[in-house]
Amino acid sequence: DALEPVISKQTLEFHHGKHLAAYVNNLNGLFPGSGFEEASLEEIVCKATGGILNNAGQILNHELYFGQFFDKRSGKAERTAPKADNAPTGKLAEAIVRDFGSFEAFKEAFQKSGATLFGSGWVWLSADKDGKLVITQEVNAANPVQKGLRPLLTFDVWEHAYYLDYQNRRTDH
Ligand code: MN
Repeated sequence: DALEPVISKQTLEFHHGKHLAAYVNNLNGLFPGSGFEEASLEEIVCKATGGILNNAGQILNHELYFGQFFDKRSGKAERTAPKADNAPTGKLAEAIVRDFGSFEAFKEAFQKSGATLFGSGWVWLSADKDGKLVITQEVNAANPVQKGLRPLLTFDVWEHAYYLDYQNRRTDH
């Protein structure tokens, strides 16, 4: 419940406990004989097709997404929700100002990308091979690693991520 009222406990229970779990169970069922049993999720999403690609992509995306909700800087094992309005610092902050003009401009562009993505998918902040920051919209289970980008931040705009709390109001979410 640490993210309430922005994301409810019920949404997280369904999102992590039902939706992500289904992708994991699906992928485990598809693995035997696929040749991907020992591959990393990144390798799978760059090489696989069909159900293996879709389920592995959603697992990779959700691991990045849920992992963002923990404040890792404490160095402690316990999971602590990040503070609201916790702006980036250091090299990341400098790169955001360099490539988007300001942190406020980045937030506006990122939110607009999420709001305008048609259908189900994800909005991403990634670094390209030269370290330049880019925002991309990826549909369904796609991930920026498929384009040679390094994902840094993601937001899930599948309806299952917000429907219990916001119904059709994706922009409010
Ligand atoms: Mn999701």
